[in-house]
Amino acid sequence: MEKQTSFVLQGNIIYTPDKDHFVSLKDGYLVIENGRITAISAQKPADYSSLPLKECSGKLIMPGFADMHLHAPQYIQIGMGMDDQLLDWLDQYTFKEEPKFADPNFARKIYPLLVDELANCGTTSAAIFATIHKESTDILCDTLAQKGLRAYVGKVNMDTNSAPALTEDTEQSLADTEAFIQKWQKHDLVKPIVTPRFVPSTTAKMMTGLGKLAQEYHIPVQSHLSENPGEIQLVKELFPEDKYYMSVYERFGLFGQTPTLMAHCIHLSDEEIDIMAKRKVYAVHCPASNLNLASGLMPTRKLLNAGVNVALGTDIGGGHTLYMPHEIVRAIEISKIRSLYHPEETPLKLCEAFYLATKAGGAFFGQTGSLEAGCSADFLITDIPDFQQDRTVEEQLQYFIYHGTAQDIREVYVNGRSIKKQTI
Ligand SMILES: [Zn+2]
Repeated sequence: MEKQTSFVLQGNIIYTPDKDHFVSLKDGYLVIENGRITAISAQKPADYSSLPLKECSGKLIMPGFADMHLHAPQYIQIGMGMDDQLLDWLDQYTFKEEPKFADPNFARKIYPLLVDELANCGTTSAAIFATIHKESTDILCDTLAQKGLRAYVGKVNMDTNSAPALTEDTEQSLADTEAFIQKWQKHDLVKPIVTPRFVPSTTAKMMTGLGKLAQEYHIPVQSHLSENPGEIQLVKELFPEDKYYMSVYERFGLFGQTPTLMAHCIHLSDEEIDIMAKRKVYAVHCPASNLNLASGLMPTRKLLNAGVNVALGTDIGGGHTLYMPHEIVRAIEISKIRSLYHPEETPLKLCEAFYLATKAGGAFFGQTGSLEAGCSADFLITDIPDFQQDRTVEEQLQYFIYHGTAQDIREVYVNGRSIKKQTI
């Protein structure tokens, strides 16, 4: 891992300070000191002449991507079972694959492949579901920490309605979760997040215990919400006394009492959307997954208008790629399809979808996901072909997002440290 975390970087810089605007500088300068961006300027900053200059003329410099929902063990089942919908797909594939991670050697073989691919795709921050297995979850955290990625990782909790090999003893699961929290909560980059799989696979006793752990240790929460009509019906049957799916999480201290990520959030009433906004719960939009499992078309514009924090996720293996620019494009495409049937829901602009994939998700980790002074130096350097050099920086980004590939990403940095390929 590159040690030097103070330098001046020169190139075509672009980021979104808010969802409605790009800020860009052609041949601009970023000053990075001790892993943090301390200045950005159009001119070569004279005050920092003692720092090494890294020249990247003609290349694009942008914030790293924040993948706010993915299942690490599902790396081995990407693309499989896509003819099914959620509950059948879970039974047919996921619940058969995840028990393999009971074997730490299997985790040692698979997780480095996943983490390398995340870095190669330009993902610098991620919120990740592991499995129920404590040892394998530690291996995932170790792998992320060694690579230098920023992540929240959850040891998954499941104690009902699951395959026998994935059904935990409730007390043991809570004890394992507490030990996992204690082990990782002080780490700089890789931190624990409380992770009930979803309401159908957790008992009231489990959720009570998890809510207590989240609040006692001030740990965030991640889970799934309102992804599929069959899933929502199942939650109604399991918890008939709760008004909404989200009311179950809320009742057990798992819905905004500490910072919370809820994946999908597709099928919500206006009242539920308002509750999410009030509780500052993030909706994590996973466009590829929602299409693959025919879960539905996320009403992203409606959620944004209501003031809900929205971020993006790949949701492998419901999704089939770790490459976030594809999710940015799909989020825009889904919003365009929705606008055909709901004209009041205007399509997402590129700056908005880019913001969701960078600063919106990045904010969950603190000051990351942008290139403003004060932010962590988490960024990418990408190639732009010669025939696009006369374009504006914004056009170059458009080209990269729609037509670029992971191979165009030359370098990836977290806290000013290179985590991919060449270093300064
Ligand atoms: Zn998921």
